[in-house]
Amino acid sequence: MLKLYNTLTKEKEEFEPIDKENNIVRMYSCGLTVYNYAHIGNMRTYIFMDTLRKVLKYNGYKLMHVMNITDVGHLTSDADEGEDKMAKSAREQNKSVYEIAKMYTEAYQNDFKKLNIEDTEVLAKATDHIKEMEEYVKEIIKNGYAYETSKGVYFDTSKLEKYGRMLSNNNMDDLKAGARVEVDTEKRNPQDFAIWIKAPQEHIMKWDSFMGLCYPGWHIECSAMSRKYLGDVFDIHTGGVDHIPIHHENEIAQSIGATGCIPAKRWMHVEFLQINGGKMSKSLKNVYTISDLEEKGMEALAYRYFSYSAHYRTKLNFTWDAIKSAQIALNRLREATKQHQNGNGIADENKINEYTRRFENAINDDINMPLAIAVVWDVAREQEKAREYYDLIMKFDSILSLNLDKESSIDTDYPEEVKTLLEERKKSREDKDYAKSDELRDKIKEYGYEVKDTREGQILKKI
Ligand code: AMP
Ligand code: ZN
Repeated sequence: MLKLYNTLTKEKEEFEPIDKENNIVRMYSCGLTVYNYAHIGNMRTYIFMDTLRKVLKYNGYKLMHVMNITDVGHLTSDADEGEDKMAKSAREQNKSVYEIAKMYTEAYQNDFKKLNIEDTEVLAKATDHIKEMEEYVKEIIKNGYAYETSKGVYFDTSKLEKYGRMLSNNNMDDLKAGARVEVDTEKRNPQDFAIWIKAPQEHIMKWDSFMGLCYPGWHIECSAMSRKYLGDVFDIHTGGVDHIPIHHENEIAQSIGATGCIPAKRWMHVEFLQINGGKMSKSLKNVYTISDLEEKGMEALAYRYFSYSAHYRTKLNFTWDAIKSAQIALNRLREATKQHQNGNGIADENKINEYTRRFENAINDDINMPLAIAVVWDVAREQEKAREYYDLIMKFDSILSLNLDKESSIDTDYPEEVKTLLEERKKSREDKDYAKSDELRDKIKEYGYEVKDTREGQILKKI
């Protein structure tokens, strides 16, 4: 029985889809805002989303899963203020907002491929759904949950008894204090938020609507698009923990305003990835991408492996040592798997059943990947090398998605001779003796490795 934690009830609950007859799970995941390269923190959340998809499929469910692409600019501040993120990025790079969206969409999709994150059934671009958003806003107004000001349409949070406290423990005073730095006297309540905004002359992304040239508030797209594809109430909504107090509270408020319902039965949130025990931030220059990891000689999938080292509801700490260890462990796991592939021993049927039971208990216990990966290791370490164990690992890899049937292109366990040559080459480069360094490169090649020089030092690739 699959159990999943629900931020709405704060409990681990037995999972049952709403549509039992068709055995279909309807799910929505908040996607990326495509104004910048996605970082490895974002990727933690999407690896989780993908793992959840695969656990649901493993349990026999069909999926109708929607993810959005936010290609309409959010404002740089949560309080409906500041510059539009997309417009800011476009201005800085001397590109159009549409070029920016295209460029960063392609970039994240490339990362998803490398991480074996499969496509969702629907990928919904915000700019393709402006009409649906407008209709949604009109419904909220019609139902009396929103009002117009000179700036646009605002959601009237006083209409909801539990506004801002459905998922989070936001307290009302904090919400009021945090809602506004500068008081907008036209708003009925300080924490009311914009759902449809009149576009000032200079605003680039704007659409003709019932209120003239406007653009949507930053929560409305998820409400409108999830409803379009999944209905008023669907099974699971996912995102990172930062979405709990504002974005998802506001999505719930909007849905109650439009349909009278909380849109999803279950809300699942991924804890943050930290770097060296702290926040990722541009000023600390520690906002890493998958390409950064690759440049330093790591495979994207080493990051996926690394992401399984903590449960999704606990913080995960990224360090360069940890990702290197993950790469080494992944290489060893693949090697151990290969021994079973070529083995002609006989697997113990009882053990196969026991491993399967343990693995399924782990994934079905709120996606406990640290436990699941431990089971895979136990199978890989079996003394008897048997094809059945290989098949079992492959079955588990349908969820893990670590390409355990492949050889690692990045090596970390080199023969001693190669290690010595690497040391010598490091020294020759420090002495700026490049002729010697090239000579050593050729020698290393004879062992079947190509050397790459990176800021982190020499990296070897198998030829
Ligand atoms: P955004 O484009 O900012 O909406 O972020 C996309 C997704 O990544 C959201 O679900 C965020 O909650 C999530 N996210 C952002 N930063 C991190 C982080 N450091 N660790 C895990 N998830 C994150
Ligand atoms: Zn969303």
